[in-house]
Amino acid sequence: MKLPVYFDNHATTPLDPRVLEAMMPFFTEHYGNAASKGHEFGWMAEAAVDVARGQVARLIGAAAEEIVFTSGATESVNLALKGMVEGARRYDGRPAPHMITVATEHHAVLDTCKTLERGGVRCTLLPVDGSGRVDPHALGEAITADTIAVSVMWANNEIGTIAPMAEISAICRARGVLLHTDATQAVGKIPVNVRDVPVDLMSFSAHKMYGPKGAGALYLRSDGTRIPFAAQIDGGGHERGLRSGTLNVPAIVGFGKAAAIASQEFYEERQRVSVLRDLLESSIREALPGVIFNGSRDARLAANASITFPGCRADAMIREMRDIAVSTGSACSSAVPEVSHVLAAIGLSDVLAKSTLRFGLGRFTTEEEVHYVARRVIETAGAPAITAGEFQSQ
Ligand SMILES: *Cc1c(COP(=O)(O)O)cnc(C)c1O
Repeated sequence: MKLPVYFDNHATTPLDPRVLEAMMPFFTEHYGNAASKGHEFGWMAEAAVDVARGQVARLIGAAAEEIVFTSGATESVNLALKGMVEGARRYDGRPAPHMITVATEHHAVLDTCKTLERGGVRCTLLPVDGSGRVDPHALGEAITADTIAVSVMWANNEIGTIAPMAEISAICRARGVLLHTDATQAVGKIPVNVRDVPVDLMSFSAHKMYGPKGAGALYLRSDGTRIPFAAQIDGGGHERGLRSGTLNVPAIVGFGKAAAIASQEFYEERQRVSVLRDLLESSIREALPGVIFNGSRDARLAANASITFPGCRADAMIREMRDIAVSTGSACSSAVPEVSHVLAAIGLSDVLAKSTLRFGLGRFTTEEEVHYVARRVIETAGAPAITAGEFQSQ
């Protein structure tokens, strides 16, 4: 077993060696620009992007022409939300649109909404219950005549809770409101099919599914649904004018390969990983009966364990356990010493939130690593430096 052990697969996943192999030729001999129409180098790149587009589309049950390649989920979310708002204003004459989202969304969504609010958009932030689930009925109630879109994440990156997307989709369809989902943690991990569960727009990212950093996708429904939409990056008209800029061909090729592998393997992988996750949770609970497991018990990502250790400082535990990679919250907020908005939304106090660790297992996690991590967590949670100050009184 190699140290440190990587248990932070919600932040990013390692590149699958098969993905790297598929990418390599596009750094070396096939370096053409996919938009160069006049020669072999361009054609090679374009053909590879076409294959990747088909692979990514197939994973989610979409048509190839419904995929817009971006640099990652953050860019896709920005494009989706800002594109819908600008589209509604420009093409539908709706100057003050309303959007609905959820308190536990990733900062990519929450901060985009803040920017849109400064520009005159009204945003409603729905609460969640103690398991992190948004109530579809409350969502329906929040829809008004001005509502243009709803954005609900398919699966949460901190507590793993999976949203009731089929119900949410049915409500949005019935009310004639567009539905965007941040499915970054869901695609390649659970069944996500835009024909079975109709969403209008969906954002996801290669590096969360064993592909490379720097490639993502926006699914934009185009099966006759009219989506008033405006591009956010202008230029050479790439991606049907929806996202200009020279395509990152090696990363897109890798994204395609990662999608093809996920299509083949995710059912078995989910089964294997959930057994390991359950082993981690039961080992820790046996030794530390006071721990609290966060997130839904039944609708949860197989690889996720969010565990609160009452009386312990999570940041001190992380400093102590240099041999294992876990996190206190999402990667994006770990630079900022502020409590997780997700843990706050499910009702954890500040102190309990600061006593919480997120474990993210993955494709390459072994049983030996689970035993090692459980043992290190159990011995660290009992160390005196970990249970100091405000944490002691609990
Ligand atoms: C990682 C993540 C993002 C951001 O994705 P990038 O590709 O890194 O920009 C957005 N939403 C969720 C739920 C994520 O887990």
